[in-house]
Amino acid sequence: MSDVVFDKIAIIGIGLLGSSIAHATHAYGGAKQVALWDVSEDVRSRAPRVVHGAVCDSVEQAVADADCIILCTPVGALAEVTQALSGVAKPGAILTDVGSVKAKAAEDMAAHCPDVIHLIPGHPIAGTEKSGPEAGFASLFQEAWHILTPLPDQGAGYNDAVARLTAFWRGLGARVETMDPARHDRVLAITSHLPHLIAYNIVSTAYDMESVEQGEVVKYSAGGFRDFTRIAASDPTMWRDVFLTNKDAVLETLGRFSEDLAALQRAIRWGDGDTLMREFTRARGIREAIIDAGLDTAEADFGRRHLDPDSET
Ligand code: NAP
Repeated sequence: MSDVVFDKIAIIGIGLLGSSIAHATHAYGGAKQVALWDVSEDVRSRAPRVVHGAVCDSVEQAVADADCIILCTPVGALAEVTQALSGVAKPGAILTDVGSVKAKAAEDMAAHCPDVIHLIPGHPIAGTEKSGPEAGFASLFQEAWHILTPLPDQGAGYNDAVARLTAFWRGLGARVETMDPARHDRVLAITSHLPHLIAYNIVSTAYDMESVEQGEVVKYSAGGFRDFTRIAASDPTMWRDVFLTNKDAVLETLGRFSEDLAALQRAIRWGDGDTLMREFTRARGIREAIIDAGLDTAEADFGRRHLDPDSET
């Protein structure tokens, strides 16, 4: 168990991220009390069966007396939720989020956050393609990076608040770093946002071809395509908001990606095997660097169903 950092935390949005924070706090410590609220009545009625903590009837009830408020809604809802809680949050409390985009998230929350609240935007680099309160699990943040993007030029007590929030996330198993929000959004555009866009696009192309090829795209789907379908199964609302709120960085990255893709297209057209070998070999190096950094395993076919040979008939 980690040290108690907060007497009470409030989690707004009880999906994959919100329920995972509740599970992790229960399992590893960090707060004595967890209160949760979600805009969806259906989610609020399902949540008590699957999450640890008190599911409240209103955002005001959840936030009252909380030392730390963690917004776990889609990025597009952050302004509205901050506005709703601004008159209720206690002075000196920390307001943070888990949104996948940071510059716009910070701007939207800052527009409604009272001066007496310490606003510290954040983003755990941890997740799955599942959503909803049933999808959460305690170990989601173990060994994962958690990026905080503290605001500049804040008043007394802000640095202490950043230190407390850092201690809380470390207690849940995360490795915490601070970063400038614009830099966060550029880095995540290439490591997360563009891969999702490509996955949505390739699956959409395959979907259109499926009817032409009479079901054989799904039947003969190979590993590469199946990996794309897993990524493209992610929550549409969350990803709509990511692309709408990280527009500039995504478009810039997409431009570079399109140029590189055109170069590969040209190499294939002109039978330029040397270029293909050079690019594919360089790509292998990045994969090895990710494994060396402990962010994935070298196991073949990761993520796929491995049948127990004894159970096969
Ligand atoms: P999720 O499973 O869909 O959960 C989001 C929950 O927030 C839903 O229950 C949703 O209700 C609720 N919600 C929407 N608007 C709300 C509002 N105004 N007030 C209160 N609750 C509201 O999504 P998630 O995967 O946990 O993602 C949540 C956040 O984490 C997003 O900002 C995302 O960018 C970030 N994030 C996600 C991942 C990931 O892998 N999924 C990783 C890192 C960060 P409805 O379903 O009724 O809309």
